[in-house]
Amino acid sequence: MGLLRKDKNTGLHYAASSGLKRCVEFLVNNGAPLFIENVDNETPCDCAERAGFSDIALYLESKMVFSNDMAVDENEDAAIVSIDLQEEYSGLKAQDLQEAKDQLLVETSDMLRVPLFTAEALLRNHEWSREMLLEAWMRDAIVCCEKSGVNPPSSVFEDLMAQSSEDSDTLRSVTPRHHGQSDILCDICANYIPSDETAVPMSCEHRFCRACWEGYLNVKIQEGEAHNITCPAYDCIKLVPVELIEEIVSRDMARRYLQFDIQAFVDSNPNIKWCPSPGCIRAVKLPDMDGASGVMSPVQPSIASKLPGDTSRSVDCGSGHYFCWDCLGEAHAPASCENWSKWFQKISEICPEALCDTSGAVETSANILWLVTNAKPCPNCKSPIQKNEGCNHMKCSKCKHDFCWVCLEQWKKHSSATGGYFRCNRYDVSKKVDEQTEVQKTEAEQKHMANKEMHKFVHYYTRFKNHDNSFKLEEPLLTTAKEKMLILANAVSDPATADIETKFIEDAVHQLLKARRVLKCSYVYGYYIEEVGIRKPIFEFMQTELEEATENLSQMINRPYLRTPRNKIIGQAQLVTRKRHDLIGAIARGLVPVDLSPGNSRKKYSFDVDFSQLEILLGNTALMWIEVRMRST
Ligand SMILES: [Zn+2]
Ligand SMILES: [Zn+2]
Ligand SMILES: [Zn+2]
Ligand SMILES: [Zn+2]
Ligand SMILES: [Zn+2]
Ligand SMILES: [Zn+2]
Repeated sequence: MGLLRKDKNTGLHYAASSGLKRCVEFLVNNGAPLFIENVDNETPCDCAERAGFSDIALYLESKMVFSNDMAVDENEDAAIVSIDLQEEYSGLKAQDLQEAKDQLLVETSDMLRVPLFTAEALLRNHEWSREMLLEAWMRDAIVCCEKSGVNPPSSVFEDLMAQSSEDSDTLRSVTPRHHGQSDILCDICANYIPSDETAVPMSCEHRFCRACWEGYLNVKIQEGEAHNITCPAYDCIKLVPVELIEEIVSRDMARRYLQFDIQAFVDSNPNIKWCPSPGCIRAVKLPDMDGASGVMSPVQPSIASKLPGDTSRSVDCGSGHYFCWDCLGEAHAPASCENWSKWFQKISEICPEALCDTSGAVETSANILWLVTNAKPCPNCKSPIQKNEGCNHMKCSKCKHDFCWVCLEQWKKHSSATGGYFRCNRYDVSKKVDEQTEVQKTEAEQKHMANKEMHKFVHYYTRFKNHDNSFKLEEPLLTTAKEKMLILANAVSDPATADIETKFIEDAVHQLLKARRVLKCSYVYGYYIEEVGIRKPIFEFMQTELEEATENLSQMINRPYLRTPRNKIIGQAQLVTRKRHDLIGAIARGLVPVDLSPGNSRKKYSFDVDFSQLEILLGNTALMWIEVRMRST
């Protein structure tokens, strides 16, 4: 059955294209190869699809996706089920926020030996930064307390007395006054308040026994009505002061109370922001720059000052809302907020979509028209091709020519595996630099310069727009792919685990879309990066790597029938995620040679190409950077 003919069709190819379902099942159950391709690079599944036998195509697809017999690469872990790597910025549910605040409060309270409520007031007054608070505390604890509006705790005076007994005159009484009470009825339990019990001082003079107070406050805190707890007396609207609450309730209950007040925690914390999407109740924290730490720590001093001005940070609230940390608008990293708005200003000035009507540069107009209409002639046979998938690897249905949608070059030139380089993202400015050095410029030359400027804009705009189009074409995969996968999984496995077994496709689409968004915005970043120096080749190299990985992932998952085993798809999605983190991380560190960047001890750029390829790709300017990196490994 595996006998090869000239057209390289196997028995399974014939059975699939002839619609012989029973025969297909028989062959598959007896080990017929699923992934083998004929001369037209078609698997049996593709043949069934082309011949219109969708039930056979579905059957073969499920066998391919969930096949385990495919040889797994050395570096791939067969057991991986989830794609999600640690994100640079992660969303926080109310629960996470409460835990973060609780942890910070308890640690600070223990460290400074102050009550929880005092710790909260102190932290609130120091942007929730324990470092800032500690600095102020070490300078002068009493001033620090007074500025934060709290009474200095007795521990401060004990410390002072231990240091010097002469300072004892600054000691103020902070212990509650004790005075006996008798013959007073508690309005709740109607018992006499014990005479040796310390009074609970309310300004409204309402009196209750301590046991009733504690019971009342516990109920209120457990009900989540932590704020605006009023006096238990009927019709009394006097608020119970927080110091009183902490004095009465247990420490555990006090922690619960403080956890509810996350609004102020977020509002006054420079490292946490609410998701700006209407109705979303999530928040986002700004953790370590290298994203390697999984430890929740809201304390990140001076992180903003480390970020270069030519970029921005995109964050994900965890409910599918991506936004810019810096301007709260649509996510646009790595482009900076300023360049992002300049870019749209430029688009509205140039009106690229209207350029096709003018009699300007013919090539320019044609380029843009192609991208706007999503239709181009095949570069080989000139027959018209409509683009309806996100992937940029196009195959002409007439002449089978493989080409790149963006630069119209042969696709095989785009892979390092076949000796070529994926380089259609690079913008060559060598001619332009020569011209800039000339002092004399005739009018004709100036016009030429303007054309060059336009050419540069078109180069970046077309690639920007292309990723935008791909994003829109790939977005529906989130629902369609997931639905189809569920049907598939039901066919091959226990329906109870079908959801888990198909989650990979959803994760992969999410990673694909995130990469598309970053790639799209990276062309805005690239448009504004300085044209001389080492930063641009480094940026373009990493952009290329992300682009290549992304196109490969798109080819795997953006097709009518999947023909890639699950493990391969998961591995590719992880690669895309890593390359995206690498690019964003490198830009955040200023695209400096890796060993010179501060605070980068853990993460290294990883290159899959050898040194000689890099030399050709980057040119001599980048060589010293590479050498620095190589010496360190
Ligand atoms: Zn009572
Ligand atoms: Zn009262
Ligand atoms: Zn949100
Ligand atoms: Zn922004
Ligand atoms: Zn063609
Ligand atoms: Zn290309």
